[in-house]
Amino acid sequence: MQSLKTGAEALRIPLTSEHLTALRKYQEALQTWNEQFNLTAITDDEGIQIRHFLDSLSCLLALEAGERFSGQRIIDVGTGAGFPGLPLKLLCPGIRLTLIEATAKKVTFLEHIIDQLGLDDVIARHERAETLGQDPRHRARYDWALARAVADLPILVEYLLPLVKIGGRVLAQKGEDAPAEVQRADWAIRHLGGRVRKLVPVHLHGLAETRHLVLIDKVAATPEKYPRRPGIPAKRPLTAP
Ligand code: SAM
Repeated sequence: MQSLKTGAEALRIPLTSEHLTALRKYQEALQTWNEQFNLTAITDDEGIQIRHFLDSLSCLLALEAGERFSGQRIIDVGTGAGFPGLPLKLLCPGIRLTLIEATAKKVTFLEHIIDQLGLDDVIARHERAETLGQDPRHRARYDWALARAVADLPILVEYLLPLVKIGGRVLAQKGEDAPAEVQRADWAIRHLGGRVRKLVPVHLHGLAETRHLVLIDKVAATPEKYPRRPGIPAKRPLTAP
């Protein structure tokens, strides 16, 4: 786990030997399951440690002075094999985490790894964001909604903002195009009750590209008609009328 250790030190994210043991277990399970289930295209040790684990942990850089993820109700939408939610949960065990994922085999893996890592207060659901966003048990219930590599931002905000309570926040992990994506999503963000807070650039050990954390505050209720039916946000992304 040397790449991860070096990368985390560069981001000033302290990792204990317990964290590294748990993440090694996670890496091994991902590699074993991937032989059968094609959970992720990134399968080598270095790739998993940097592009999956460290990139997920970089969400901690979104926190401001005095803020913590522990104790917060967090939803990770389109989590795939658990990113970014599960590495964050390993470092901040007090997170109350919901993982949602549209592909059933990935949810089976999530249930396995949650059990293997002995994690409490984590639920993995086979569900679409559009369905959960209209469910009163989930709509406007979360302190944070996170997502990485799920959809272009004008679509993604329709998945995420309905799930966040007023005063909560969206965190979208994006690549080099983040500033342009934010511009394209500007109308959708405001229409859905959000306000862009800031973009945090992130440099990961050994990677040339600049990644970005896009932070959006939920400042007003999302109009009831959003999210629209499953598939509609992606088919007809929200744009200014
Ligand atoms: N977030 C993970 C990561 O960064 O490794 C997975 C990224 S993968 C490219 C995108 C995932 O989002 C897929 O597993 C897909 O099934 C899921 N997904 C896409 N649209 C979704 C939706 N509307 N609701 C729930 N999951 C969705």
